[in-house]
Amino acid sequence: MSFAGDLWSRFRWGRTTEPARVVIIGAGFGGLGMAIQLKRAGHHNFLVVEKANDIGGVWRDNTYPGAACDVPSHLYCYSFEQDFGWSQRYATQPEIHAYLEQCTEKYGLDEHLKLGTEIASADFDERTGQWRLLTATGELIDADVLVPACGQLGRPATPDIPGLNSFTGTIMHSSRWQPDRDLSGRRVAVIGTGSSALQIVPAIAARTDRLTVFQRSASHIVPRLEASYSTARRQTARAPRTLSRLGWWLLYESMALGITRWPPAAAGAVRGSRALLAAQVEDPELRARLTPDTEIGCKRVGISSTYYPALVRPNVEVATDRIVAVTEHGIRTADAAEHVVDTIILATGFEATDFLAPMRIRGRDGQELSRVWRHGARAYLGITVPSFPNMFLIYGPNTNIGAGSIIYMLESQIRYIRRAIAKLTTAPGHSFDVRPRVEDRFHREMQRRMRSTAWVTCRSWYRHANGQVTNNWPGQTFEYRWRTSRFVLAEYRVTAHNREQRPAGTNQ
Ligand code: NAP
Repeated sequence: MSFAGDLWSRFRWGRTTEPARVVIIGAGFGGLGMAIQLKRAGHHNFLVVEKANDIGGVWRDNTYPGAACDVPSHLYCYSFEQDFGWSQRYATQPEIHAYLEQCTEKYGLDEHLKLGTEIASADFDERTGQWRLLTATGELIDADVLVPACGQLGRPATPDIPGLNSFTGTIMHSSRWQPDRDLSGRRVAVIGTGSSALQIVPAIAARTDRLTVFQRSASHIVPRLEASYSTARRQTARAPRTLSRLGWWLLYESMALGITRWPPAAAGAVRGSRALLAAQVEDPELRARLTPDTEIGCKRVGISSTYYPALVRPNVEVATDRIVAVTEHGIRTADAAEHVVDTIILATGFEATDFLAPMRIRGRDGQELSRVWRHGARAYLGITVPSFPNMFLIYGPNTNIGAGSIIYMLESQIRYIRRAIAKLTTAPGHSFDVRPRVEDRFHREMQRRMRSTAWVTCRSWYRHANGQVTNNWPGQTFEYRWRTSRFVLAEYRVTAHNREQRPAGTNQ
């Protein structure tokens, strides 16, 4: 665009009232939060497209026994919707799902929801400056602004174990629980010892005939200080709730400092995890096998006071020899033992580094996002990618945190995106595209800061196959909040498009 053209369009900005058409992909905490904030800002021209038939994201998908949030609910909720009346400190999955349903209803989001609709591709049309989305069933949806809010933990990772398909019993991933499979009196295997396994194992151990937990590497686990809230407490005034929220936030900020920059700040967690193991596991041989040999925080720290007690039950065994194969009737380990089971639970995590897959997203000059990200996903502030104009990610690369409430991070992104959308609404027919050097400087900063974090010291879902930490934010959450507090137009290329050529699509 010429300088004169730029001036003219800048002059025009602020005069228009037609709100940009926003399409949000995903109806989890991120997508719904974005929708609510648009509504609260008086912006009603948006659609939330969700591939499942229900809202909730991970809190819809993860219905395994014991599913709950191990971050206290006073913190793990929207800052603008704190008054829910949680029944306990760590809310269960049904309660969190109900919370999101209540938010959806309160803010009248139903009319904006398009459930059961999977987006197959999104293409940026350079003539009109719009995104054209194609659903899996062939429907076209147009958007001025595209907000993918697909999460990082939506697609189950199936381990590459020989013979997995030959197993004749029940096999299910933790996030695809089959409630009709009764585990009572069954011989069950749980593969994995991450946060999901830590909740499943204590919830099912007593009812199984025999439970074998396959541990590849031991986790650091700190106590979960559960508390149930009386009816009176549920209706407590705002002040104690705010104090509780602040207290937990400060605790997690110090933990984040310990993981990212200054290990002494995590010393309390190290002591807590050692003390928990010593107090709950008497057998020195088992205790040795459950002692992590990794730095605390390099993988997500487990939070459970019931996991170790479940492992020491007489019907529970911890198998630490490497799994070499799944057979028709069980699991074979490197010590040549065959563990006969009739149910295998894969608590093996998610394809977390394949952001936005399997959607095909094409930006300027037909550039494919999956190709741009072939060496690992990256985005300025985790939100915007050069050559993908007017696309703003929620829970994108480098925005996950090792400790704390992800909702705090999501709200930072939502606020930033809302500001970008407000700016775009005053500039119809324009697109904003982050300058490559701005994004590149940010990416280099991220990778430089990663070097001092615990995350580079072990394997986890935070890291791309090439070793780069693509998922996590290497600082404090307040730093991220501060850095996303302003939408700086100078960091973007501004392009004028010809809206007269707007193609006919739908945006109902
Ligand atoms: P995860 O943390 O990625 O853990 C996967 C587990 O499976 C690890 O123990 C891993 O071993 C093991 N594993 C993977 N492939 C294996 C193989 N081929 N053979 C043997 N073991 C294998 O997954 P997750 O537990 O589902 O948790 C993912 C994330 O979800 C968490 O980090 C957290 O962010 C979120 N989450 C949160 C909550 C909550 O309460 N807030 C609850 C559940 C999950 P290695 O450790 O050796 O790699």
